[in-house]
Amino acid sequence: MNIMKYAIEGYKDIQSDKYIGIFGNPIKHTLSPVIHDTISKELGISERYIPFHITDNLGEAISTAFSDGVLGLNITVPYKQEVMQYLVDVDPAAKAIGAVNTLVRMEEGYKGYNTDMPGLYKAITSEGLDLAGSKVIMFGAGGAARAVAYMCVNYGASKVYIVNRTYENAKKIAEDMNKAFDKDVIVPVSSDSYKDIPVDSYLFIQCTSVGLHEKDGLPLVDDKEFFNMAIAGVDLIYNPAKTPFLKLMEDLGKKAINGLKMLLYQGVMAYELWNELTVSDELVEKVYIALRKAIYGDNIVLIGFMGSGKTTVGRYIESHYGYSFLDTDAYIEEKEGMSISDIFATKGEEYFRKLETEVLEELSLNLSNTVVSTGGGMPLKEGNARFLKKIGKVFYLKASSSSIYERVKDDTGRPLLQVKDPYAKVCEMLEIRNPIYETASDFILDTDRREVETIASTITSNI
Ligand code: NDP
Repeated sequence: MNIMKYAIEGYKDIQSDKYIGIFGNPIKHTLSPVIHDTISKELGISERYIPFHITDNLGEAISTAFSDGVLGLNITVPYKQEVMQYLVDVDPAAKAIGAVNTLVRMEEGYKGYNTDMPGLYKAITSEGLDLAGSKVIMFGAGGAARAVAYMCVNYGASKVYIVNRTYENAKKIAEDMNKAFDKDVIVPVSSDSYKDIPVDSYLFIQCTSVGLHEKDGLPLVDDKEFFNMAIAGVDLIYNPAKTPFLKLMEDLGKKAINGLKMLLYQGVMAYELWNELTVSDELVEKVYIALRKAIYGDNIVLIGFMGSGKTTVGRYIESHYGYSFLDTDAYIEEKEGMSISDIFATKGEEYFRKLETEVLEELSLNLSNTVVSTGGGMPLKEGNARFLKKIGKVFYLKASSSSIYERVKDDTGRPLLQVKDPYAKVCEMLEIRNPIYETASDFILDTDRREVETIASTITSNI
């Protein structure tokens, strides 16, 4: 296999009967192997995904891959445009976008596709948003923005404003896409002239690289009022999980979606093209979890009955192991601006349970390196266990009825225990909840007679 001379360290000696891979420079930190190797492993397909470091002579590398029988390739920075000249065919959408990120083996050579565009569309629609008839404000006019602009017009956006630092780059995309679709949908805007955009409701799609670095602020427009026009905000950046743009969206109460699902779906779609199959939703979810873990590290989720030590243990892990701490009850109280008991009293339990599920879903998308302490009733509702596992590894802090009773008996702030015989109540509730907690968890930890530091170290060494 001559192509293996380009493989990065750690991949050079991999033996398989079928190869797929990625060409790019730099390429060392690519996350694509996580996507493709997870799918292959789950489906029992033997092909292996290899990152190839191509520093020059892309044409020679492409023909070597073809003669060596490589089934398919992803193409990343800086070769998404240049690669097009070495292909036997290019899909019309990729041609109009002007960038190819996926090569599929044909008889005489490779055919080029762009899965970034449908990948982002799938990511957006999977969040319940749609483009048909919508108005969009895009930030940025680089390579990725071309695919986004194409996607917006292709899926029926009625108006798209492209705001960019360099007006000429926005103008070029607008001209190319308006011509490709024979429509006048895209309007280029210099970032200095953002106030020219009519006041309306827009889907905001952030396609600049502003937000990648810690010191970065808002992209292009430093005017929070302007962002009030957003229905929701999508950022192509996925690391960090929350850019200043997405943080602002959340502060304004808007839906905020980062680029991780775009990365996920563009990879899944490439895999489907190479292997002529459909990856099931369940498997996509597994890949998503694997990807999240690879990028953000793992979160720790603590579940269990009241008094089982979730807050104490969570706070200990926060201060001794460098995690952030989040208590779902406190989070809900802050979001709603009232205490849990007031939510119960004024809006009812059903409303509260719905809030819990919404919060879980939100956290499953955005959290990194955090220990999450959950309300005792959280795992009980059907469907919540799935979100808990999506957030991170779930630890059930198990305790006996007598330990729990000892810990909570003097606490008057527990409405469920304000009954004649609180010990009997604890026993009764634990009997029902114990099997549910066990099923919802990845790891069960007996906390009776164990010190907080022992529990914390068991947890952190088992994530
Ligand atoms: P490009 O380098 O082609 O374009 C960068 C864009 O950002 C340009 O519009 C540029 O403006 C703008 N920009 C850069 N620095 C600044 C700054 N300091 N102030 C204002 N504007 C700035 O990058 P790509 O289009 O390839 O990628 C853009 C982002 O999208 C990246 O962060 C990348 O990580 C992300 N991405 C995510 C993917 C995913 O799967 N989730 C896939 C592809 C990209 P100007 O034209 O004026 O130079």
